[in-house]
Amino acid sequence: MLWAIVNHKKVEPKPNSYGKCPLCSGRVLSKCGEVNVWHWAHFKAENCDSWYEPESYWHLRWKMTFGKEHSEIVIKKEEKWHIADILTENDVIIELQNSPIQQNIIRKREEFYGERMIWVINGIHFKHNFYIKELDNYNFNWKFKHDETEDHKGRKQFIWDYPRKSWSKAMRPVFIDFGDDTLFWVKEGMGTKHGIGLFVPKADFIKKYGGNYDYYSEQMSKGVRPT
Ligand SMILES: [Zn+2]
Repeated sequence: MLWAIVNHKKVEPKPNSYGKCPLCSGRVLSKCGEVNVWHWAHFKAENCDSWYEPESYWHLRWKMTFGKEHSEIVIKKEEKWHIADILTENDVIIELQNSPIQQNIIRKREEFYGERMIWVINGIHFKHNFYIKELDNYNFNWKFKHDETEDHKGRKQFIWDYPRKSWSKAMRPVFIDFGDDTLFWVKEGMGTKHGIGLFVPKADFIKKYGGNYDYYSEQMSKGVRPT
């Protein structure tokens, strides 16, 4: 986690400091190394939230865009507790996913958070297997990789080599972050070899959900790490 509770406040990690986990109230210790993003970790090796994913600079950038008051929010439902990555001012949960994830975990997270939930997943790991072209172009010339697609307007077809199949049953909207200034919203065929989607400018997405696009774009312009 990026924030722990210290004196009833959400606090960033500093070297050699302690805090409390917002979920289980267990003691957490700051991890401030040179390689990984600074974060807090439980004393015990196990994380109390089974859906925990190691923090990355990618997580940090997205969470900071929505601010710590909207990030890492404890959600309670039917005697279960989980930490949502982002809870927007309009009560939409944005779940961030950087690494591969099992299908049953996707389903559990979607069921727990309900219909007002969307996924943003880091596509930087598979962008070179992901091809996009115009929907109405029937010559089947798949020369455009994501990077080279010039026109971001309208619906696109995609081909995904070695798709992350665990996503094929996802029920909530999935937006893929390929590391540029758009998100690719998969409308059909998530987690499969063929499908349809469209580009959404990150500026629009972030503003729609109450985030701070100026912060986000400033971070991107610094050339920060993609993962
Ligand atoms: Zn905990």
